[in-house]
Amino acid sequence: MNLGIELLPSRCDVLVVGAGPAGSAAAIMLAGSGFDVVLVDQHAFPRDKVCGDGLIPDAHHALRRLGVLDEVMAKAQSSTHVGCIGSRGGRVDVPGTLAVLPRKQLDEIVCRAAIAAGARMHAPVRFVAPLEEAGVVVGARLAHGDITRELRCRWLLLASGAVPQALLAAGMSDRRTPSGVALRGYLKNDAMRSRIDKLEVVWHRAVAPGYGWIFPCRDGVYNIGVGIVDSHNEHRDGKLTKQEINLREVFDAFTRIYPPARDLVQGGQWISPLKGAPLRCTLEGARYSRPGLLVCGEAAGSTYSFTGEGIGKALETGMLAAQALIAGRASGAGDAQVRADYEARLLALKPRFDLYERANWVNRHPWLADLLIWRASKSARLLRRMSGVLEETSNPGHLLTIKGFVRLFAE
Ligand SMILES: Cc1cc2nc3c(=O)[nH]c(=O)nc-3n(C[C@H](O)[C@H](O)[C@H](O)COP(=O)(O)OP(=O)(O)OC[C@H]3O[C@@H](n4cnc5c(N)ncnc54)[C@H](O)[C@@H]3O)c2cc1C
Repeated sequence: MNLGIELLPSRCDVLVVGAGPAGSAAAIMLAGSGFDVVLVDQHAFPRDKVCGDGLIPDAHHALRRLGVLDEVMAKAQSSTHVGCIGSRGGRVDVPGTLAVLPRKQLDEIVCRAAIAAGARMHAPVRFVAPLEEAGVVVGARLAHGDITRELRCRWLLLASGAVPQALLAAGMSDRRTPSGVALRGYLKNDAMRSRIDKLEVVWHRAVAPGYGWIFPCRDGVYNIGVGIVDSHNEHRDGKLTKQEINLREVFDAFTRIYPPARDLVQGGQWISPLKGAPLRCTLEGARYSRPGLLVCGEAAGSTYSFTGEGIGKALETGMLAAQALIAGRASGAGDAQVRADYEARLLALKPRFDLYERANWVNRHPWLADLLIWRASKSARLLRRMSGVLEETSNPGHLLTIKGFVRLFAE
């Protein structure tokens, strides 16, 4: 599926940098609409991506729109609930359309669909810098080993994920630091199959400000990890400090305070060691566009704060970028109009991202999770609302304001 750097053309309509969910989703739509698309990734596919691999409802919707949901679900472990567990051991199972599929497989399916739609995938090929003429991006310098190539394009789509180097090279980064960091590994433990058959998320002082998770894949394999918000501080004077949080120690604490995590690790076999990666959240940390260039996916901060879920919104923002280009071509819109259209589409999602940012209260103060779980276990109405938030059919605002919180006791 990977063409080498030697076979890169010298020009195309749209160059997409990054073949994760955002880049491949954009490439599917654009190539399907007749654009000449080149997709590049610094890694040859299939490739691993450090992730919890959880597919929440927004990812299901996006994968369906892209025509790959059946193929994904034929390989994924589906689940009907996510278990939310508080520090006092309370638990509530929130209904939702959920699944788990390791990213190596998920991203290969979406990338293959982009190739099937007509995109040309070249990897391993690294984006080095944009080519610019009078302040407009007109292409990119790409490299692999000693070989460098220049590729000219009408539009450059940066879908390079949470690691900021490509954003920095393109002059699009507002912030070098991530919004948070997380770490995960894969374990096989057949004995736990009947005990953990749903996605589980755990809040506790020992993993604050963050959470731990256990997500079941197929065949007795589990994705287990911890995520931390507020991992870095950026001061007004521009100085950066990294909080002294050791994710490995947080993971060890998770396995101490949550018995199923302890049993999973003690009786299981690691099939892939713990690996960490950054998160960029809340549609913040980068400019969305400049002449000739659009930023989408986690490069644009498209991961939800609080839950760290970002596959669905990466797919969506990739599709939004594609839609803006498709609409622009149909109407003959110029660069500025296309960019304004794309930015408006992204900003329409921002209020929901802001609410998830506010929900970070729960990661910082896990007693709030205890309270919410306790109330939800007593109120079918509240449980339905939580499910509605997960399904994106109801607004999380009412759960995340002081007024809404007080109302919890009247539910
Ligand atoms: C530990 C962890 C757990 C997570 N768990 C979940 C979860 O359970 N569910 C969920 O929905 N989300 C989860 N997320 C978030 C999710 O991983 C991201 O939101 C998602 O991967 C973003 O997709 P993307 O396409 O924007 O970027 P990515 O998936 O990161 O893809 C970017 C691609 O760009 C390529 N690239 C980068 N720089 C260059 C360059 N210079 N040249 C060429 N190619 C380049 C990379 O190789 C990569 O393939 C988790 C994240 C972490 C770190």
